[in-house]
Amino acid sequence: MKYIENTIGMLGDTEVSCELRAIYDFYNSIQPDFDRFTEEFGVDCPSSCGECCAHFIPDITPSEALILAAQVMFGEKKNLLQERLKADLPRIVCPFYDPWNEHHCMVYSARPLVCRMFHSCASMGKDGAMHFSRCRFNEESSSVSDAELAASGNRFRPMGDYGAMLETLQGNSPVTELLPDAVEHAMSRIGYALNLLFPVDGVFSGESVSSGDLGA
Ligand code: SF4
Ligand code: SF4
Repeated sequence: MKYIENTIGMLGDTEVSCELRAIYDFYNSIQPDFDRFTEEFGVDCPSSCGECCAHFIPDITPSEALILAAQVMFGEKKNLLQERLKADLPRIVCPFYDPWNEHHCMVYSARPLVCRMFHSCASMGKDGAMHFSRCRFNEESSSVSDAELAASGNRFRPMGDYGAMLETLQGNSPVTELLPDAVEHAMSRIGYALNLLFPVDGVFSGESVSSGDLGA
């Protein structure tokens, strides 16, 4: 994601920049695990489905919000994303849900951890064994049996491990907020840092820093 790299570079040595780098590297390092899980077990979602996002708004941490904020401020289709964030949508649908988008998500490459893990990762049960449940929103979705998971040994981490890693990322906190509120706060943090670095009227508002400048 070039706009993330450029945003990190523009934020220089600030804490916000380090935090953005940490979450970006984290996502890049763990996404192959989820891809491998779905490929190895043949887990798939019906192509037209996106029901999970139509009935869900994630609670996210500050770092997860930060990378989304970078996309909303400087990424491709930033105006549309900002409109969606401000739209008076019912508080049951994710503002970035788009039924006509390939992945049904307008921020797919920066999507939060829970969205990456949903239907792509098993969880650890109280019995100490890994379990994977069929998606509750779609009975046609794929499933994975406990036996298959047990046979996979410890090649796959449970969801809780990723959550713990996320919480301890540089600059992050376990305190979560609903995605729209969290992204608004993160946008303010980026804007504040940019205004300190470039104390010129209009930098944060995007008047002098365009998505083109950031390579979106
Ligand atoms: S099957 Fe479930 S996880 Fe997959 S897209 Fe549909 S609702 Fe989402
Ligand atoms: S961020 Fe994307 S994947 Fe996550 S709930 Fe919203 S639309 Fe769905």
